[in-house]
Amino acid sequence: MKTSLTGIKPTGTPHIGNYLGAIKPALELAESYRSLYFIADYHAFTSNHDPKSMRSDVYDVAATWLACGLDPARTILYRQSHIPEVFELTWIFDCLLAAGQLERGHAYKDAIAHGESPNAGIFNYPALMAADIVLFDCNIVPVGKDQKQHIELARDVATRLNHLFGEGTVVVPEIKYEESLLVPGVDGRKMSKSYNNYIPVFASAKELRSGVMKIVTGSEGLADPKEAEGTTVFQLYCAIATPAQANEMAVKLKKGGYGWGHAKQDLYEALEAELGPSREKYAALRADEKALDRILEDGAVRAREISLKTIDRVRRAIGLR
Ligand code: AMP
Repeated sequence: MKTSLTGIKPTGTPHIGNYLGAIKPALELAESYRSLYFIADYHAFTSNHDPKSMRSDVYDVAATWLACGLDPARTILYRQSHIPEVFELTWIFDCLLAAGQLERGHAYKDAIAHGESPNAGIFNYPALMAADIVLFDCNIVPVGKDQKQHIELARDVATRLNHLFGEGTVVVPEIKYEESLLVPGVDGRKMSKSYNNYIPVFASAKELRSGVMKIVTGSEGLADPKEAEGTTVFQLYCAIATPAQANEMAVKLKKGGYGWGHAKQDLYEALEAELGPSREKYAALRADEKALDRILEDGAVRAREISLKTIDRVRRAIGLR
């Protein structure tokens, strides 16, 4: 069975865009791969220097993934910071990469272009990400097109290590591009924490409904025929409903006599049907941080069974054993 790896950066409460665009598709991978999921807390540390939110963001993410169906017995869920070998391999990669490769990293380049003074963590981020991947003998890394550069760098440095120190020392990962879904927020722009246009995955039913009712729509009257295509309500409905249900909504809108309020109610009901049953599970998981710690520590023990073997091969190959 091939291995797939998904990294999740803990940056605040996950929203419906995260759920539909990242969580749901990543959980489907567990059906066909040996799957590892890690909470990228040291990636978050490149920008989050607030210990309180760091602590709570990690638990929010862990509880969300578990409530959404991640089975920690079948998959391996761990925190990046629990795997010391990640940081050792990052250093080894730093010494194999050209500084120019890191200078071309999107995050670093963008920060420089905006006149910011990025920290060295932003500069090194792609090396850390390459170590996250290569350490676990990953065959497949499912990513959106925006991550192409990072995965290519991981492939490049893994290939270089094998070339210099012995073929087969590390596994060179394959890239699996995911169809990227764009979930709009209530104002029609991409749903994002930075636009404050999001609906949290585990908002209460009341908050979920009021979030949905805030979605901006056209001003046609109830009786008017309406075009579904390109509207925020319909885009969100397509992301959550079956194709037959989505088609039914488009037909009703076109016919007239079915208002945007009705469409929003149907959207709310579809979201509630999908997320409502996991809400209590989330609350119970989130309330017990000790139990979350146990799950993450158990995942780290299992993850290190892989990472210790890889780092041992690498140390021997480069002459440190
Ligand atoms: P972020 O919380 O913005 O770092 O997003 C984490 C991941 O969630 C991204 O890499 C995407 O896969 C997914 N995601 C975030 N926002 C959206 C959105 N509006 N539509 C679809 N996917 C999203």
